[in-house]
Amino acid sequence: MRAAIVGGGLGGVAAAVALRKVGWDVVVLERAPEFGEVGAGIGMMPNAMRALDALGLADQVRRIGTPKVAGGVRDLSGRSLVRVAAGEHVVAVHRADLHRVLRSALPERCLVTDTEVTSTDDLDADLVVGADGIRSRVREALFPDLPRPVYAGATAWRSVTAVPFARELEIGQTLGLGTEFGILPLGDGRVYWYAATLAPPGGTSTDLAEVRRLAGHWHHPIPALLDATPPDTVLRHDVHELRTPPPSYVRGRVALLGDAAHAMTPYLGQGACTAIEDGVVLASALARFGTVPEALTHYDRERRPRGRKVARMSRLAGRFGHHLRHPLAVTARNTVLRALPTSAAVRGMSTFTAWRAPQLSPDR
Ligand SMILES: Cc1cc2nc3c(=O)[nH]c(=O)nc-3n(C[C@H](O)[C@H](O)[C@H](O)COP(=O)(O)OP(=O)(O)OC[C@H]3O[C@@H](n4cnc5c(N)ncnc54)[C@H](O)[C@@H]3O)c2cc1C
Repeated sequence: MRAAIVGGGLGGVAAAVALRKVGWDVVVLERAPEFGEVGAGIGMMPNAMRALDALGLADQVRRIGTPKVAGGVRDLSGRSLVRVAAGEHVVAVHRADLHRVLRSALPERCLVTDTEVTSTDDLDADLVVGADGIRSRVREALFPDLPRPVYAGATAWRSVTAVPFARELEIGQTLGLGTEFGILPLGDGRVYWYAATLAPPGGTSTDLAEVRRLAGHWHHPIPALLDATPPDTVLRHDVHELRTPPPSYVRGRVALLGDAAHAMTPYLGQGACTAIEDGVVLASALARFGTVPEALTHYDRERRPRGRKVARMSRLAGRFGHHLRHPLAVTARNTVLRALPTSAAVRGMSTFTAWRAPQLSPDR
């Protein structure tokens, strides 16, 4: 059986690895001239680590990812609002490295660049996977009337420091007024950081001075991280989301996956995590059910509620995170967070990170 995967982002390449694990022949068709990920770091939450484990790649990712350090949420003076013990955490990696690890599990012949798919009709395959991102043409062809992705109200800057920081540097999220700053140490000591702020859409400045203006006076180590960042490495993206989910993730022999199916705000760090989950569930369904239509029905039934739920929670996390900018609202939110026992915070997080991956093997 042969699958054609449209789009070679993290979702498409992870799906290719998963499908090969259950005995499918795959080809990933990517429009860009080469495979890889631009961008800074990315956080793999425990659910994604389980999906990567099913792909046989979790240890490799752990080796290049965040060491076991504690983490938490702080206010902009650095006062702790929520503490999370070491071990309960996200594993952050450089996006390019994660993509490389996934690609390393695929033979070269599966990866085709410079190929923009304009219609899936002519693809010679038993299954077509639309993994072509938030502006998915595959989704548009399946559901032409579905409203397009919308601006989610915030813009985000990201980069990675050029120099390593102390090994014990903690994972952190700092909530200011209408702005948040995230700190995610990578395995080699460099630090991935992001800053998100409420702003009108369309801003393009990647000037580090803008980030300094927003958060450069916040608690240690934020100013030091910005000082250690080469200005020409800063990326900026407006945050968009697919607010109206498609009525199905499947139609005929086509399945949607990742941002093509459920582009969500990044406030829970779950977009790529759930994209990787998608590929594992799709492959497991194809291995378990006798026919592609049966497997796709199962895939849709499993994944659509999950995509909708995580996207909704992510939107909510933004609303109570950096979308709050009135000082009274921020103080009230911070008071509630500080009063919350750690166990309650961890439980809240585990409502979406507790996802278990199906095992992948050709005979299941
Ligand atoms: C600021 C920010 C921070 C984020 N942080 C996190 C995080 O910490 N953790 C997390 O899990 N997620 C995070 N995300 C979300 C994550 O980046 C995305 O959800 C994820 O990368 C989606 O992967 P994908 O493979 O579905 O789509 P994409 O990465 O968009 O890949 C789609 C691919 O398809 C190709 N393509 C498109 N059209 C065609 C076509 N017609 N033919 C052939 N190829 C095509 C594109 O070139 C691209 O390579 C963040 C997002 C943002 C904006």
